Amino acid sequence: QAGDERAVHIPRYVRVNASVWTVEEAIESFISKGFTLSNPFDSSKSFSKDAHIPDLLLFNPQHAFHDDPAYKAGKLILQDKASCFPAFVLSPLANDDSIVIDATAAPGNKTSHLSALMRNRGKLYAFERDRKRFATLQMMLSKTSCKNVEPINADFLTIDPSDLKFGAATHILLDPSCSGSGIVNRLDHLLDTEEENEATREGRLNKLSAFQLMMIKHAMKFPNVQKIVYSTCSIHATENEHVVRDALNSDEAKTGPFRLAPHNEVLPTWERRGIVEEMDSPEDAHSVVRCSPGEDATNGFFVSCFVRCATASGAKR
Ligand code: SAM
Repeated sequence: QAGDERAVHIPRYVRVNASVWTVEEAIESFISKGFTLSNPFDSSKSFSKDAHIPDLLLFNPQHAFHDDPAYKAGKLILQDKASCFPAFVLSPLANDDSIVIDATAAPGNKTSHLSALMRNRGKLYAFERDRKRFATLQMMLSKTSCKNVEPINADFLTIDPSDLKFGAATHILLDPSCSGSGIVNRLDHLLDTEEENEATREGRLNKLSAFQLMMIKHAMKFPNVQKIVYSTCSIHATENEHVVRDALNSDEAKTGPFRLAPHNEVLPTWERRGIVEEMDSPEDAHSVVRCSPGEDATNGFFVSCFVRCATASGAKR
């Protein structure tokens, strides 16, 4: 199936920015404009609430939001359903002591989602190494009224985990660069071209996965981190199950020690899980989430969640 054909079956997902609006207020506002709560494919003015993400609404793909005043005011964010999973799974605490890192932040959709989940409290450090993309991130943070975010134009790999400020982080979101092979509603899927020969493709994926693994291992060195969510918009096991498997077998994971959060802590009602043959155990595969473009009405996506194990005394470090 061609990417564009699959995109037709993906609703337009719109996340209500809980920092400035509630989902109830958004629903009321759309109803007052003549929209009805029903299957978003019924008509161009139908919409519904998402079954998994509390602040997410589904609209007809034909409905454009570019002139919508709520969208322009940063009350609504156009964000694919699968891309809302990482912040939701990380579920940072919403209190003044909460310290969170978004290691690869631009353009900032997941950063603003994290900020909203934190109720704009505590501190969220958002790293982005690319200068142009960092400017986009800053714009996005200002548009979405993220007041607890400190954006930092730096490479996450250069951040010292024992730094007093950043070393206090308890939650880290890692959504690093990937092949983008799961994206069907943008043109990015062309990155994964059919013309590319097998050897070039394999070389490119191996390079990406080596970098992705390095990012997870670096995150595991943060002394207070309890939870690390790693996600990609790739459909390739090389960037997903294999990276997670190698991370679990790394010295950093053994030192942590880190394991995968069990199935019941990672979107338990989402049925599509990791590929068993690509991981060390069925439990591991069951603990991670996959989204399949064409079958799940989302882009292709992968989410995993590492947690630090309790020590012998029962307390977490
Ligand atoms: N999480 C973002 C969102 O939801 O809007 C998308 C992140 S995008 C997949 C990956 C981003 O990570 C890119 O902007 C890239 O420039 C940045 N990046 C890649 N390696 C990085 C590193 N080592 N440190 C900081 N940023 C990095």
